[in-house]
Amino acid sequence: MILDGRRVARQLNQASVKGRAAALERPPGLAVVLVGEDPASQVYVSRKTKVAGRVGFFHRQITLPVDTDQQALMDLVGELNADPAIDGILVQLPLPGHLDATAVLDAIDPEKDVDGFHPENVGLLSQGRARFVACTPLGVMKLLEEAEVPLSGKHAVVIGRSNIVGKPMAQLLLGANCTVTVAHSRTRDIEGLVRGADVVVAAVGRAEMVRGSWIRAGAVVIDVGINRLDDGRLVGDVAFEECAEHASFITPVPGGVGPMTIAMLMENTCRSAERRQGRA
Ligand code: NDP
Repeated sequence: MILDGRRVARQLNQASVKGRAAALERPPGLAVVLVGEDPASQVYVSRKTKVAGRVGFFHRQITLPVDTDQQALMDLVGELNADPAIDGILVQLPLPGHLDATAVLDAIDPEKDVDGFHPENVGLLSQGRARFVACTPLGVMKLLEEAEVPLSGKHAVVIGRSNIVGKPMAQLLLGANCTVTVAHSRTRDIEGLVRGADVVVAAVGRAEMVRGSWIRAGAVVIDVGINRLDDGRLVGDVAFEECAEHASFITPVPGGVGPMTIAMLMENTCRSAERRQGRA
């Protein structure tokens, strides 16, 4: 069965977040900061602000020139931290190489850190008392929950250990009582690990790396990867057609995890607004 992230995301946005936003005294406010003109980042940022508009949020997109210096970016974050109309701050990654992304993310008020990248929020997640969780892994969990995929006691293999996807994904699956293996570029025999997995999450950035022959019958396959091929096609880290033959559930690319990531950004921003207005 194909896990239709587009449908679930639309449903969450329209049936939940939009109504909750409208019930607040002041609409949730989301600030999205983009530095430079990276085309992929521009696409992601415009999708996020478009959905924010659709669910009735106040939103600001701030685009800074590629040669913006560290201090100017830190000052902007400081201003947004202090702005009462802003409940969520997102700095689109990657930042140009001369900027220290860690310092910028650390400077975001953890109460407005709707991307869940601040060390305080990462720590809370690892202790099992999450406040804001990174949107992509949170979206994966929501998709699994909506499809009523049982997780307790299952063996999950997460391929990728980035701070924004792999690590929080592993924490969430652990929190859902999976037995979790995290694979990365130094892992030996990833194929063998995947063959033993009930749940596979691929977050690598290598086109169609996970092959159908690796997938155990009935496994759940989640494809986080987004890869643009030379012919312009967009594919995931999973060879979709091959893997779909063996999987019980599988996410497509596009239309799987991507829309869920944006829906979770809306959910986190709405919840931040609710918290800041004493509603949660
Ligand atoms: P990173 O590049 O930060 O991390 C990639 C991870 O994959 C690293 O842990 C790396 O290992 C591991 N890796 C690289 N090559 C291999 C290999 N040959 N075998 C096993 N592991 C390998 O990427 P992100 O986590 O940021 O993103 C992963 C993918 O997900 C990308 O395609 C990205 O575009 C996509 N993405 C999609 C989102 C969505 O909304 N759908 C949101 C965010 C990302 P090591 O640590 O050892 O280097």
